[in-house]
Amino acid sequence: MTVASNRLVCRECHLVNEADSETCDACASSSLTEDWAGYVVIAHPEESEIATEMQVTEPGAYALKVR
Ligand SMILES: [Zn+2]
Repeated sequence: MTVASNRLVCRECHLVNEADSETCDACASSSLTEDWAGYVVIAHPEESEIATEMQVTEPGAYALKVR
C-alpha cells in the first residue's frame, strides 16, 4: 500500500483518506487536513501495540503527525 502526500488525514482519528474525500471513512468527520507527516499501516489493530496506543480499531493507514 502506498500513500501519497496529497491524501487527506482525519484530525479526529488520523485515518488517511483519499485525496478527494470530504468525510472520513472511519468516523465520518469532515475535519480533514493535508497538513500531516508520516504514517503507519495497521493491518491487525487487535494485535498491534501502536493501534492500542492510537486507539485504532479499524485496519488502515494512519498518520503519525497531524497539525
Ligand atoms: Zn476519522
